[in-house]
Amino acid sequence: MSEQAMPAMSFPREGGCQCGGVRYAVTCEPTALYCCHCTNCQAQGGSAFAMSMLVPRDGFAFIKGEPKRFDFVADSGNGKIGWCCPDCGVRLMHDTEGRDSITVRAGTLDGAGELRPVGHIWTRSAQAWMKFDETDLIYEKAPEDGYTALKEKWAHQQASRAG
Ligand SMILES: [Zn+2]
Ligand SMILES: [Zn+2]
Repeated sequence: MSEQAMPAMSFPREGGCQCGGVRYAVTCEPTALYCCHCTNCQAQGGSAFAMSMLVPRDGFAFIKGEPKRFDFVADSGNGKIGWCCPDCGVRLMHDTEGRDSITVRAGTLDGAGELRPVGHIWTRSAQAWMKFDETDLIYEKAPEDGYTALKEKWAHQQASRAG
């Protein structure tokens, strides 16, 4: 399926954990979607990388259940707060105090199959077999431009998919 044939991911949209006990809503347009290959994301998901969706803080809310808080130190050295389902353990959202956006673990969104990330961060710890598309934005560590390039590429992709 070509990129042009895929619809823009529309918002508001809901998501939730594996057991359905915790649900959330994204009520505004996200500002970027990328894959994170840091060692925390690999361990937390038991996988090669995680999909992170940047959402303005005001545009995210838990709407069902009581998520459990888990504090950890990111590969960047920043303190982060993870929120997960207390029953099935699925991580749903990450928060960094002082930032105006949070990151949704985008694989937990309803209809996540429509997602197309625009870049990859922390590729210095990416698994050796990973292959990146030449059109993707690639960062060895965290982007030093405040995620500006990722945000611009995401906005462009959403606009072009909307036709
Ligand atoms: Zn759950
Ligand atoms: Zn990560």
